[in-house]
Amino acid sequence: CLATHIQNTIRLLPNTEYHGLVNKSTVWVFGDQLNRQIGALRDAQPNTHRILIIESHLKIASRRWHVQRAHFIIASMRRFASELREAGFEVDYRFAESMQEGLRLHIEEFVPSKVIATEPNSYAARTLVSKLGVESVKSNQFLCHPDVYKEFQKGRKSLKMEDFYRFQRKRLNVLMDGDNPVGDRWNFDEENRSGPPKKDQDRWPKPEVVALDELDAEVLKDVSQFSWGVEPTGQWATTRAGALQRMNYFMQNLLPMFGEHEDAMLASNWHLAHSLLSPYLNLGLLLPEEVVAAASREFVLGRVPISSAEGFIRQIIGWREFIWNCYWQWMPDYAQMNSLEATRDLPQLFTNPDKTSMACMKSVLQGVNERSYSHHIERLMILGNFSLIAGINPQQLTEWMWNSYVDAAEWVMVPNVIGMSQYADGGMLSTKPYASGGAYVDRMSDHCKGCAYDRKKRVGEDACPFTVLYWDFFLRHEDRFVRNPRVARQVRAAQQLADRDDLQTTAVSIFSRLDNGLL
Ligand code: FAD
Repeated sequence: CLATHIQNTIRLLPNTEYHGLVNKSTVWVFGDQLNRQIGALRDAQPNTHRILIIESHLKIASRRWHVQRAHFIIASMRRFASELREAGFEVDYRFAESMQEGLRLHIEEFVPSKVIATEPNSYAARTLVSKLGVESVKSNQFLCHPDVYKEFQKGRKSLKMEDFYRFQRKRLNVLMDGDNPVGDRWNFDEENRSGPPKKDQDRWPKPEVVALDELDAEVLKDVSQFSWGVEPTGQWATTRAGALQRMNYFMQNLLPMFGEHEDAMLASNWHLAHSLLSPYLNLGLLLPEEVVAAASREFVLGRVPISSAEGFIRQIIGWREFIWNCYWQWMPDYAQMNSLEATRDLPQLFTNPDKTSMACMKSVLQGVNERSYSHHIERLMILGNFSLIAGINPQQLTEWMWNSYVDAAEWVMVPNVIGMSQYADGGMLSTKPYASGGAYVDRMSDHCKGCAYDRKKRVGEDACPFTVLYWDFFLRHEDRFVRNPRVARQVRAAQQLADRDDLQTTAVSIFSRLDNGLL
């Protein structure tokens, strides 16, 4: 088989000389490791190393990607190859049927003295690299390597994000005053939960947009047959310089406002004060340490309040790194978990949102179509929440999100969907299911005003699907959740509803309309 052939070939590679020529080593760079400072590339030199980047046809054609996501990744890879060439490297940017085939052809053509890769960011790619006998270098793309995470795990019965976050603050010495947190509090989350502001809903500076060029047009030609959604508008930068510019723009214009309305959702404003930096972090165009350093600097210079700086830094060194380590701790079985036995197929409205009368779902899903992005609370409390209470299959939701979001990657998508939003892991990541009804959506957004459904109604044709399915969810799973102290109160309240039977009849009608594309 191809893998064994490559493994044997790698084993037999001439050490440094081949036909009298001093041979270079190959650094194999994956599409989400686009940074000179990452792992094997950090020590690579043009006179001793050659770079291999593979654009695999199988990978691109394996899904129907959102066109902005496909374009973002491929354009970033091609531009990174050009940057490496400008820095003097010989780059073999190879178009191949598969990654294995690309590597085989590269070895055949260049006979490198050895092939090195930085530990890849996905379980499948790490397995491939080790199967092929490629030497791997420890990754420094994240701030807490799984080896370091083991120190955090030692002696702990439960692994809470907040404890991990404090562990990270101390070991990385971020926002610390000796052994104490700056401002005498670890967490300013309570100040960061306001709903949408009543006035001045356009207060947040608009994100920057760049003009597209010939390379973008070329990439679009290549990916259009595998993709859907609105074509790129220049929203997502595809170089490190562009990503740095976005980071600086965020630090100067939006970080001071980050936090307060972090959980709010507005139909009229898709970005609020969110950083929009996840795509760059996930591809390596930005490194987490430089983002954290920039935010800390803004705080130290007195330009940003502690609640904003802390709130943002917690997302990066806390949530992001925690999720990364959950992935490595629990994969590969984790991705297939479905503890609530949710079997409903992903409804049509996810791919065709124009027809739904649910204002919140329509707005968020249309936003995904337009930008390949929605912010955290829209992912968790609209799309995730709806899927949870409607019993949608978590693997189908993961697939859809993976295809749809510009910042998607298995390591971050799987724990966020399977664990945080769908409770499909039975509570390994989150101690309670994130289920909410129409009252929450109304408090945190401007979607309910003017919606065809009435968020206060639990019964009848115009009852809000979020409200009805929220109660129905706790009734469907009453045995499991009545034993969970964090949500037992909701289960008991559901059991005591006077209109419980009518509510459940309404739920049946909602499911039927949902499955038939009529909700
Ligand atoms: P900001 O609000 O500005 O936050 C700053 C940064 O914090 C983000 O850029 C991100 O790097 C990090 N962050 C915050 N929360 C999380 C989290 N829960 N997990 C990991 N990183 C976090 N994030 C992805 O990067 N890719 C995904 O595929 C992805 N899928 C998600 C699916 C679901 C169902 C949920 C609930 C969350 C998902 N997230 C994902 C996490 C989060 O929603 C995004 O990181 C965030 O919305 C990106 O936008 P931003 O850069 O403007 O974030």
